[in-house]
Amino acid sequence: MIKFLDLKLVNQEYNGLFKDAFGEFLNKGRYILGDKLLTFEKEFAQYCGTKFCIGVSNGLDALKLIFEAYKVLGILRNGDEVLVPANTYIASVLAISNSGLKPVFIDPDIDTYNINTYNIEKLITLKTRAILGVHLYGGLYDVIKLENISKKYNLLLIEDAAQAHGAVFKDGRKAGNLSDIAAFSFYPTKNLGALGDAGAITTNNENLYQNLLKLRNYGRINTYENNLKGFNNRLDELQAIFLSIKLRYLDRDNTKLRDLAKYYLDNIKSEFIQLPKVFDIKQHVFHQFVIRCKDRDRLKKYLLNNGVETMIHYPVPVHKQLAYSEFNNLELPISETLSQDILSLPLNTSLSIDQIKHIILVLNSYS
Ligand SMILES: *Cc1c(COP(=O)(O)O)cnc(C)c1O
Repeated sequence: MIKFLDLKLVNQEYNGLFKDAFGEFLNKGRYILGDKLLTFEKEFAQYCGTKFCIGVSNGLDALKLIFEAYKVLGILRNGDEVLVPANTYIASVLAISNSGLKPVFIDPDIDTYNINTYNIEKLITLKTRAILGVHLYGGLYDVIKLENISKKYNLLLIEDAAQAHGAVFKDGRKAGNLSDIAAFSFYPTKNLGALGDAGAITTNNENLYQNLLKLRNYGRINTYENNLKGFNNRLDELQAIFLSIKLRYLDRDNTKLRDLAKYYLDNIKSEFIQLPKVFDIKQHVFHQFVIRCKDRDRLKKYLLNNGVETMIHYPVPVHKQLAYSEFNNLELPISETLSQDILSLPLNTSLSIDQIKHIILVLNSYS
């Protein structure tokens, strides 16, 4: 059986380094906001090409803190509208609505799964203040078009880069440095995954940075004085240690994912299966490899019967969730079609080319 994802296997190669670092951590006795967090923040900012990085508790909190920081600065207010792709993971939308803002859903492009920029301008109103772009499945959204739209309408451009650590735009800029401010998740399954919950924010804006440092730590400026109504959203010292180790291998790991994905793209040949459209493989880090099939559930069962476990990202669109009943009547045809057609194939650094070949053989024999 080829499992969809075996995290123990993915992390196995780092176990020696993790154990050494954990021993050092125990000897030192510094658990929160120590120098290892500062080191990771410096390394990740440098990796992304931004001036600043703030380590935080997880990806959802990273997004929430971004919106809260803009509210502190008076740039966003309750009730402001934020454009967001309809086919994203629910966390992108939760961050918007939990911050008192209003999500406005954009139907995606059916071939790339990313924001269809033609749908954006129709949705802009006097209350629209921001676009939350998502690099879904690890593929960059249309960077130039989103930059142009945000400039033309004076909108904040915020990146949800939770699935795109290390994706590079053709001008050399990386995910996390393609907007005003970006949120990352280091949830264990992500391209850069911690051994628990973790996240980060990257930006070149010093004012946002200074406010975020306070907001993630009770709004405090020193031990006894608090200037903002903040949160406890710090990134653990221990997770920062693990992340610093894995960051050194991120480009190598992404190259491996890209090579395996390219093998899928070149060799899956079936009239029943549609492959994702990838314009520039460098702009993709293949957090997921998502195919489409009319009879998706039948294909999923067939693959399982032939020893291949798959998943669906995501079977229920956000606007169809009970949690968002106020949007249940919205019609977003592409998102709804995708939720029924898409299937994520196994793709991670623990897979061998022989396993990928086996999956392709099974797929190409489907009828
Ligand atoms: C994983 C993810 C998040 C949330 O990150 P957590 O660390 O799990 O809170 C947000 N947005 C997207 C697109 C994600 O994939």
